[in-house]
Amino acid sequence: MKKAYNFNAGPCVLPKEAIESTIEAIRNFDNTGIGLLEISHRTPGWERIMAETRQLWRDLLNIPEEYEILFLGGGASTQFFTVPANLLNKKAAYLQTGVWAKKAAKEAKLFGTVDVVASSEDKTYSYIPKGYTVPTDADYFHITTNNTIYGTEIKYDMDCPVNLVADMSSDIMSRPVDVKKYVMIYGGAQKNVGPAGVTFVIVRKDILGKITDRAYMNPLPTMVDYRTHAAEEAKNISMFNTPPVSAIFVMHETLKWLKETIGGVEKMHELNKKKSDLLYAEIDRNSMFVGTAAKEDRSIMNHCWVMAPGKEALQDEFMAFAKERGMVGIKGHRSVGGFRASLYNACPIEAVEALVECMQEFEKLHK
Ligand SMILES: *Cc1c(COP(=O)(O)O)cnc(C)c1O
Repeated sequence: MKKAYNFNAGPCVLPKEAIESTIEAIRNFDNTGIGLLEISHRTPGWERIMAETRQLWRDLLNIPEEYEILFLGGGASTQFFTVPANLLNKKAAYLQTGVWAKKAAKEAKLFGTVDVVASSEDKTYSYIPKGYTVPTDADYFHITTNNTIYGTEIKYDMDCPVNLVADMSSDIMSRPVDVKKYVMIYGGAQKNVGPAGVTFVIVRKDILGKITDRAYMNPLPTMVDYRTHAAEEAKNISMFNTPPVSAIFVMHETLKWLKETIGGVEKMHELNKKKSDLLYAEIDRNSMFVGTAAKEDRSIMNHCWVMAPGKEALQDEFMAFAKERGMVGIKGHRSVGGFRASLYNACPIEAVEALVECMQEFEKLHK
């Protein structure tokens, strides 16, 4: 197979072990003689995988009992309207740190008043706004902890005067999270915990079913109401309808790798910091490049940089140079330009070393 270092922003690199065991399960699931893509989701073997996947989430993030863990379809983008549908009575507050955050706020406006407390749009979302005030009469405050496109991240669990909701699509499981600080955490799996096709929702049960004042979408359509998918909690499975079976299986294998091979989220965080520091150090050292995100807000997942002033004309040349050396997915998002390398959990340090070496060689070539 062709040598490739996968720096794609999502869907992204997955652990080799997870891919291998999935291939085996596709041929023969749980020794049933039937493949993963063909089994009934009501078979005991599958119910066990569902239960184990939830338990892996609980173990890895220390999720307390009062939270439900749901595996849904539709991507994080579907949560942009499902969150306000379930939680917005009158008013919600949003922190606008990127295009995903802006899209989330846009959907919330369908349901009530949206107070955008701060935005970093003025500087192409290259920093995380600070010093804003969250209105205490908001039903919840929505944040995007990692801004995949711009490489900025809120790297701590904030104290919030109202219910805190977080889109953690692109940094979930990259660091320990104090789940109790949030009423809800959600995201698409395809950035750090699995393939596209499954969305995780961690939600505190007591905040659900509280929509009283709102006229729009009230009562909720069955599939939109989180409680529908939490109904079978007693069995530790939630399958109101057919879940995205194959995607959940890959998530199960990915989390098993994180727990058993890596040793958990704290260990993962250490490894991620090491990978990230290595690349930022090179971006800062190399005379050909400059980073685009404010240093104090730099993401440990997505690393963005552009050609240094005066070197802009070499952009295409570096892209070709890197491609030739096996670098995949380092083109920056069109709104930022330049380059972006996503170093998600399953990205090995060897890939980062190869990229750093490639940047160093390119600099030597042009000195
Ligand atoms: C990728 C991404 C999304 C969109 O996820 P989909 O599953 O494609 O809908 C939302 N938020 C963030 C932070 C993302 O990185």
